[in-house]
Amino acid sequence: MYDIVIIGAGPAGLAAAVYGQRAEKKTLLIDEKGYGGQIINTPEVENYPAIQKISGFDFANNLYQQAADLGAELTFEKAVGIEDRDGIKIVKTEGGAYEAKAVIVATGAKNRPLGLDHEEELTGRGVAYCATCDGAFYRGRTVAVIGGGNTALEDAEVLSGLAEKVYLIHRRDAFRGEESNVKRIQGKENVEILLNTIPTAFLGEDRITGLRIQDKESGAERELQLDGVFVAIGQMPDNGAFAQQIQLDDKGYVAAGEDCLTKTPGIFTAGDCRTKKVRQLATAVADGAVAALAAVEYINQQ
Ligand code: NAP
Repeated sequence: MYDIVIIGAGPAGLAAAVYGQRAEKKTLLIDEKGYGGQIINTPEVENYPAIQKISGFDFANNLYQQAADLGAELTFEKAVGIEDRDGIKIVKTEGGAYEAKAVIVATGAKNRPLGLDHEEELTGRGVAYCATCDGAFYRGRTVAVIGGGNTALEDAEVLSGLAEKVYLIHRRDAFRGEESNVKRIQGKENVEILLNTIPTAFLGEDRITGLRIQDKESGAERELQLDGVFVAIGQMPDNGAFAQQIQLDDKGYVAAGEDCLTKTPGIFTAGDCRTKKVRQLATAVADGAVAALAAVEYINQQ
């Protein structure tokens, strides 16, 4: 029996583990893939207070080490449900089940697909979702990045250092990402920014050869010859497996406020999987602290 089982070992889950262990609660992290969450794909984190610059990978490693040194355990499994049996929570995984006094759902979010035909078949064949992971395959090539948020801006910057030419394609006339990121990308000679532009079709049979795009104002379509397309249009949650125990909002995020409480006593939530306006590293770890301390209080009151 664990005191706290945390589903998801991204920054929110890892921060929750640090707070849980420091309160001397036996804590288990469950993650399908690894620890660190999305931040491991961010080359440089420059907006985390008190740390001027750190790679996302190092940030994740430091946070994991901190949690592990305090005694948190980690298992790599896919959590597939939560049951509440007379107050004891059972977290079911594909391979087994873990009992806990409290559970924190910190599942983060996954990449949102563009939704064009053949996207799934072309993924890994020219369609990619992570410039840090796959950018090196496109050294000296021509690529496009789709999106207008910080991820798209950062992906375009990473790719501008590898590819010969980068198109940055955004559906509106203003970027959503931070002004400092926008300025940096505007200064890159090999980046061509196409605003008010939407992708309408992937070109290529077995792998990407290009992208059909449409100018939103004129309606005119044209084709770009490309070796790769990086889709960076935000994330979406993946909380369906836990919907019975935690209320989800209309977009699938866990419906919880800043107190990180769900509709079920003893089940808490933290990080990007929660309904919130600002999804940042700082807000994810803040949630982790709030959720863990709420879980500790809940356990102590039982
Ligand atoms: P995001 O901020 O939600 O931006 C998604 C972008 O994709 C928006 O520009 C959106 O356009 C566009 N988009 C959405 N659906 C689209 C579609 N179907 N077709 C074309 N374009 C579409 O997502 P994100 O950039 O992944 O960032 C997620 C969160 O992580 C944000 O809070 C972000 O600030 C944070 N983040 C921070 C950093 C950092 O601080 N260094 C780095 C990466 C991410 P509209 O603008 O028109 O809606």
